[in-house]
Amino acid sequence: MTVPTLTLNDGKTIPQLGFGVFKVDPEETERIVTDALEVGYRHIDTAAVYGNEEGVGRAIAKSGIARDELFVTTKLWNDRHGADESKRALGESLEKLGLDHVDLYLIHWPTPENNNSVETWEAFPSYRDQGLTTSIGVSNFDHRYLPQILDTGIIPAVDQIECHPQFQQIETRPLLTEHDIKVEAWGPLGQGKVDYADTVIGEIASAHGKSWAQTIIRWHLQRGHVVFPKSNNRDRMAQNFDVFDFELTTAEVAAIDGLENGLIVNKSVEPV
Ligand code: NAD
Repeated sequence: MTVPTLTLNDGKTIPQLGFGVFKVDPEETERIVTDALEVGYRHIDTAAVYGNEEGVGRAIAKSGIARDELFVTTKLWNDRHGADESKRALGESLEKLGLDHVDLYLIHWPTPENNNSVETWEAFPSYRDQGLTTSIGVSNFDHRYLPQILDTGIIPAVDQIECHPQFQQIETRPLLTEHDIKVEAWGPLGQGKVDYADTVIGEIASAHGKSWAQTIIRWHLQRGHVVFPKSNNRDRMAQNFDVFDFELTTAEVAAIDGLENGLIVNKSVEPV
């Protein structure tokens, strides 16, 4: 199965469906990412703070998959902001991943208390120029923090941000659309904390002979989001990858859009 790609505002492409490793135990990461690569995923989303970049790197090395067939994202953690410090942090991430470059490097969170996200962001294009990352972007920059980033004139290729049927980033979306910044939807399945089978999603899923999770992933794809659901379970990894043989109608997409109610599923990861 070839996963569709989206073209970013820097002209590079990104596979629209990937595999995320938030909260994947570092001891288990190599096995879990190996499973994901065997299932067919070629886009892996990790972060320095997940503590599992080494496991991701080992799985990639062991897979024998050509580097240019893979898309790897990692993220700068909050205590490594600043121009010099972020460069050191990226170097450490690359070493752990066993790679000479990532495909996408993100600022993980705005750090308003230190007022240093902008200084960090202004250093990011040099990492792209040095070939340490192909594209650059931000994460968790909503309508409160994105304007300061945009004021630099350096436009992020993506904003990786919580996004699922009950929290669609309504306030931030106009800025993202205006600058052609792709939404990377984290927590795309509501982190498994919401009983979506009991909503209109359950009915739509039954109509297509698919699960609620596949239906939500399909909704993300049709809304133009990049999405990387996480599961430690190989059957669910395969299920989440099996989303290219059906299509939601316009009315079904609209019905899922209608579930928006401002539900933030993971309050523990608000900016620190
Ligand atoms: P998710 O919405 O992908 O939910 C994962 C959970 O959903 C699993 O643990 C499991 O309980 C359940 N699940 C997965 N597949 C299922 C299926 N087919 N059927 C039933 N239940 C299923 O949440 P997530 O892992 O938080 O988000 C995905 C990725 O987004 C992460 O792994 C990470 O890469 C990224 N992320 C980024 C940030 C950020 O701050 N940038 C924050 C959270 C997550």
